[in-house]
Amino acid sequence: MITRRLAVTVAGILAGSSVLFVQPAVASPPVEKKPAEKKPVEKRPVAEGYGGAVATVDLDASEAALGILRKGGNAMDAAVAAAATLGVTEPYSAGLAGGGFIVYYDARQKKVHTIDGRETAPRAMTATSLEGIPFDDAVTSGLSAGVPGSVAQWELALRRFGTISLKEALKPAIKIASKGFTVDQTFYDQTAANADRFKDFTSTAKLYLPGGAPPPVGSTFRNPELAETYRTLGKEGGGWLYGGRLGSEVVATVKKPPVTPGSTRNVRPGLMELSDLKAYRAIERPPTKITYKGMDVYGMAPPSSGGSTVGEALKILEVLPKVGMHEYLEASRLSFADRGKYVGDIPGVPLQELLSDGFAKERACLIGERAMPHPAPAGDPDGAYGPCPAASPVQETQAPVPAEGPETTHMVVTDSWGNVVAYNITIESTGGNGIVVPGRGFLLNNELTDFTFGPAPGDPNLPAPGKRPRSSMAPTIVLDGGRPLLALGSPGGSTIITTVLQILVNRWDLGMSLPDALAAPRATQRNTAQTQAEQGFIDRYGPELTSRGHSLVLNPEIGAATAVEFLPQGRLQAVAEPTRRGGGSALVMSERR
Ligand code: GLU
Repeated sequence: MITRRLAVTVAGILAGSSVLFVQPAVASPPVEKKPAEKKPVEKRPVAEGYGGAVATVDLDASEAALGILRKGGNAMDAAVAAAATLGVTEPYSAGLAGGGFIVYYDARQKKVHTIDGRETAPRAMTATSLEGIPFDDAVTSGLSAGVPGSVAQWELALRRFGTISLKEALKPAIKIASKGFTVDQTFYDQTAANADRFKDFTSTAKLYLPGGAPPPVGSTFRNPELAETYRTLGKEGGGWLYGGRLGSEVVATVKKPPVTPGSTRNVRPGLMELSDLKAYRAIERPPTKITYKGMDVYGMAPPSSGGSTVGEALKILEVLPKVGMHEYLEASRLSFADRGKYVGDIPGVPLQELLSDGFAKERACLIGERAMPHPAPAGDPDGAYGPCPAASPVQETQAPVPAEGPETTHMVVTDSWGNVVAYNITIESTGGNGIVVPGRGFLLNNELTDFTFGPAPGDPNLPAPGKRPRSSMAPTIVLDGGRPLLALGSPGGSTIITTVLQILVNRWDLGMSLPDALAAPRATQRNTAQTQAEQGFIDRYGPELTSRGHSLVLNPEIGAATAVEFLPQGRLQAVAEPTRRGGGSALVMSERR
C-alpha cells in the first residue's frame, strides 16, 4: 500500500506538478499504475480498461480529467479539472457561474457523499417575484440569474476529497481557453440557436458571434478572457467571486445587463447583491439511498428531485411482477406526481416515506395493463399503507410540461483507488441567460427559471429568499455488496430523471450491456398526457404501447448520458453517447492491466 502511494506521489512530481498529490490509502486492492499510454486523438463513446476512467460529453474535458489522473490526482481532482474545462469547450452548458451536484464514492471510507453546489435565489426574491413574467422573458434576463454555486462547490470538493488546489485543477482549462479548441458541429449549432439573443448583449456578441456570426465548424475558438479569469480565480480563490471584485462585476451585470444599443429585447434586471454572493455556501448533504434488486442506489437529495424521483420509481418497479417499457413509463408517471407535490428546497420533504417499500407498494397498485388516466394523482406518503385501494377519481390538474432541451452536462470519473465521481454541472438553458460578464469570458446562469413561477399556493418549489430551485439533476452511484458497480447521469432538465431511470431499467431489467443501455432509444413520461419519445423508441415500442393507451409524441433527442461500470477483475467500462449531442468521449487510464 505504502509502496503504491509513494509511486503515485513520485509520478506526480515527475510529471512536473508543483503539487504533492497525497491520496489516502484504501483497503481494496489497487490497480498498479502503468506508464502513460499514447493519448487517443479520436473521440470514442466506449472505453474499457484499468486504473481509472472518465466519460464526458467532450474529448478535451475527458483528456483534462485523464491528465490529472495520470499525474497522480484522484477522481475528484480530475472531475473539477474536467468541469472547468467544460466551462471552456461546453460554455453553453457549464461554467464557473453555474451550479451542480456531485455524488461521490469515497473508497477509503467506503461511503457515498454528495455536494450541493446549486445556485440560490437572492435574498430579495420572494414567492411572487416571477409571477406573471412570461417564461421566455425570464430565460434571458438578470432576474433568472441565481447566485453561482460551482466555484464554492469546486473548492469544497477539493478540500474535502481532493488532493490538489483549485489553481492546479484550473490549469488544463486555462491551457485550452488560451490555445483554443476546434469548433465542432454541436458548438456551432448551439451558438447559432442562441444567436438571436447573443446579439442583444454587447459582451456575448463580442465573444460568441465574432464578426456577427457563429464561429465556423473547424475553426479554432479561443477565450483568453476566460483563461485570465480562471488564472485570477486560481490565485485569489473563491473569495474573488464570493464578495470580491469578480462578484461585484457579476452583480453589476445582473443588475444592468449590457444590452446592445438598439436592441428591443425587454431584459429584466436581477435582484442579486454582493451580500448574496458572500452568503453562498456549497453544502455536503446525505445522499438518497434505496435498494433495487439487492443493489444500493445512491442519488442526490433535495434541492434536487433526482435521487427521490429515480429512487421512488425504482422502488415501484421492484414491486411489479415484470418490468418493460409500459411499467417504466407508469412508474415514472407516478413518481413525477409525487415529485411535484412534495419535493423542493423546503424543510420536511418526506424522503424516507417516498422511498419506502410500503409507499412503493401502494403506488404500484395503480399500475395496470393500460396507461393510467392523466394526470396521475400524487400519493400520500404518510406511513400508513394498506392493501391496494379501489381506484380513486383523478382530482388534480397539471400544466403541460414543455419539451426539455439538451442543457447541462454530466461526467463520471473513477481513479485507481476506487473513488468514483458522478457530477452534473449546468447553467440551466443552453447558453444560460445569454449574458456574458463583460471582459470575463463566461456566461451567467438562468437557473432561477427552475422555480415554479406561480401563483401556486402550497407548491414546494416557489421562490423564496436564499432558496435553491428544485433540480432534476440525478448523478447516481450504484453499489453492489458495498462496492461500486455503476455510476451514471445525464443532462436534459426533468428528462434527466427518466433518462437515468431508463438506462437502469435497460441494464438491469432488460439485460442490455451498458453501451446498449445508453444508446437505446428513449422515452420520457413525467406525468404528462403524452409521452415524449425518440423516433427509434416509437418505431420499436409504439404499436404495443399505443394499444395499451399510451400516446407517444416525438422528441428528437432525449439526454446525453455518461456512465461507468465496474466489470469483474477490476476492469472498467466507461461509456458516453454514441451519437446524441454529437457523441461523447470515454477514456481509460490503461487498456491493459
Ligand atoms: N436546470 C436543470 C435542473 O437542474 C438542469 C438543466 C437542464 O438539463 O435542463 O434540473
